[in-house]
Amino acid sequence: MNAIYLDHNATTPVSIEVVEAMLPYFTQHYGNAASKTHAFGWIAEQAVSDAQLKVAQLIHAEKDEIIFTSGATESINMAIKGLAATYGSNKNHIVSCVTEHAAVLDTLHVLSRQGFTVTLLEVDRLGAVDLEALERSITKNTLMVCMMHANNETGTIHPIAAIAAICKAHDTLFFCDATQSAGKLTIDVKEDPIDLLCLSAHKMYGPKGIGALYIKTKRPKLNVQALIDGGGHQRGLRAGTLNVPGIVGFGKAAAIAQEQLWEDGVKISKLRTILEQQLTLLPDVFINGDIKNRLFNTSNLCFKQHQAADLIKGLKNIAVSNGSACASAIASASHVLLAMGLSKEEAQSSIRFSFGRTNTMEEVNQVISTISKLYQA
Ligand SMILES: *Cc1c(COP(=O)(O)O)cnc(C)c1O
Repeated sequence: MNAIYLDHNATTPVSIEVVEAMLPYFTQHYGNAASKTHAFGWIAEQAVSDAQLKVAQLIHAEKDEIIFTSGATESINMAIKGLAATYGSNKNHIVSCVTEHAAVLDTLHVLSRQGFTVTLLEVDRLGAVDLEALERSITKNTLMVCMMHANNETGTIHPIAAIAAICKAHDTLFFCDATQSAGKLTIDVKEDPIDLLCLSAHKMYGPKGIGALYIKTKRPKLNVQALIDGGGHQRGLRAGTLNVPGIVGFGKAAAIAQEQLWEDGVKISKLRTILEQQLTLLPDVFINGDIKNRLFNTSNLCFKQHQAADLIKGLKNIAVSNGSACASAIASASHVLLAMGLSKEEAQSSIRFSFGRTNTMEEVNQVISTISKLYQA
């Protein structure tokens, strides 16, 4: 298959080193990490502990602050519902933002039906939140602020250090969805006081079905209620036999991401720059998002003269997306782009190109020539 994959914000290929690190844990070291009575269990437990440390290091957390889950969606549910269950009777207001991922918005919607008040902050044309509006929205009843680090559709980066400082000053908790930024931006949950943060392995060249939730353990120790009960694994916070190969793969992916962060950024942003320089020469093509403050791999372009769905059909073997993967089952305009003030037509004429480590300049040139031809047709 001679396909070009430009949809890395939906998911990434698993890197060979990650697969190799995982393999022994299927057939050789297949013990249950909770088995205390034999070496199979001890080996698995040690592997989990090593991976936990690597994931923690990627965000500058402590090892014990990392809980493994089935992915960012579960981590998001656990963070929001888990805090709401523990502290919701005193504080029943949550602040978030209109451009969050569906996993956050849908979870908040469930809580709002249970009596929580949810404030969703608007964004400007670049996808940025107004920090003064954030500050004004926080009341004595505000349990938490849920704000993503980088947007999956446009790459726009929220100023999480400033958001964390505001939350701290107003004595409210800060939960950050860092699923897109992890491995692309430096994250330091201690320097920027973040209380909870979620990650997903498959967005950073690790396997699908494994994610993590960082929960601060000190000053204050947070009490998050478990979503999944049974057996007391992971300090009672998330029961169920650990996915040891997945966890090992996640640890390896996190270590590689940390090592290669700079290198990836330099290489991948060059590809994006060429793509945007060439495609914005076409009539009525513009960039969505904050070009000064964006993930290095993401390009969201509006092709005003065309419907994105038509262009995508013409792209044939080039994998891109309109809207996020989760929403593409439903043919509607992106909620993120609409929130940024694009018209429905403009939103439906926009395509996300998200680059990754294995993309090449030849591929970029092929994408440029294919789209240019569609314009001449
Ligand atoms: C992909 C993604 C998620 C969901 O992650 P899963 O691990 O697939 O559940 C959540 N938030 C953002 C910003 C994402 O990009």
